[in-house]
Amino acid sequence: MIIEYYRPDSLEDALNLLSRKDPRTLALGGGLYINEVIKEPIAVVDLQDLGLAGIKKTGKNLQLGAAATLQSLLDSGLIELALEKAIMHQENYNRRQVATLAGSLVASTGRSALTAVLLALDAELELVGGGQRRDKILLGDFLPLREENLAGRLITGVRIPAGLAVSYHYVARSPADLPIVGAAAARWPSGRTRAVLLGYGEQPVMVFDGPEADGADIAARSAYSDAGDQWAGAEYRSETAGVLVNRCLEEIAEKREG
Ligand SMILES: Cc1cc2nc3c(=O)[nH]c(=O)nc-3n(C[C@H](O)[C@H](O)[C@H](O)COP(=O)(O)OP(=O)(O)OC[C@H]3O[C@@H](n4cnc5c(N)ncnc54)[C@H](O)[C@@H]3O)c2cc1C
Repeated sequence: MIIEYYRPDSLEDALNLLSRKDPRTLALGGGLYINEVIKEPIAVVDLQDLGLAGIKKTGKNLQLGAAATLQSLLDSGLIELALEKAIMHQENYNRRQVATLAGSLVASTGRSALTAVLLALDAELELVGGGQRRDKILLGDFLPLREENLAGRLITGVRIPAGLAVSYHYVARSPADLPIVGAAAARWPSGRTRAVLLGYGEQPVMVFDGPEADGADIAARSAYSDAGDQWAGAEYRSETAGVLVNRCLEEIAEKREG
């Protein structure tokens, strides 16, 4: 329940507010998660006036503003098809107008398609903290310790490589449903290949990062060998994980040839 609302126009003011312990004070992106899930009394710091919604290509990278909405990422025309597919799978049209990139990463679960694709792309987050100290952290290091990583800090942006071959495939009960098992893979021009699984657990997991793709499917099967829950058994998830990783790699290979 939101008991105080602030809309600062400087990072310094935002960080001062976020450093308060009482009441607990949180950054407000689109507010979807905050409004629907957090029941305790909180103060929120709206990030809208901080200029954090930009999306641009700089050299070989895309610089995505933390407060960019998921729909604005789609509208930018700059992101890869697999990322578009993941965003459209994760949130419907109305929610995409509101949900922000940083809010979606912070609130993500093991079934978050957007997070999985960004993890495959080895995304790097930019954080700013007290004294406007700026830090960078890889998404894979951020996710397991979100609260600790955010103490007194704000995500200002996300950097991903531009134009990298990336693919996302999933299995769900219906096309609009969240994935029971999903895979995302990315391949760098050097041959470096990363594979990520989703559909189970607290967050998507990176299961393979090697100089070439050989062994990615085996790593995927092994990573989900105990991934059983009420939605699917471990054996099914493990087998399907290997199949989906191979599907991603085949799609990437076809794109490179085409
Ligand atoms: C019932 C329910 C189910 C959901 N299921 C899923 C799901 O399956 N998969 C999934 O991915 N998401 C899920 N979500 C999460 C949510 O819908 C989306 O991830 C949404 O995109 C959140 O974006 P937002 O901008 O509205 O976040 P907000 O609600 O504004 O913020 C979410 C969190 O991120 C923090 N935050 C926001 N911006 C920043 C920033 N710049 N720096 C630091 N911290 C920041 C906030 O303080 C808050 O803790 C679910 C939410 C609900 C309510």
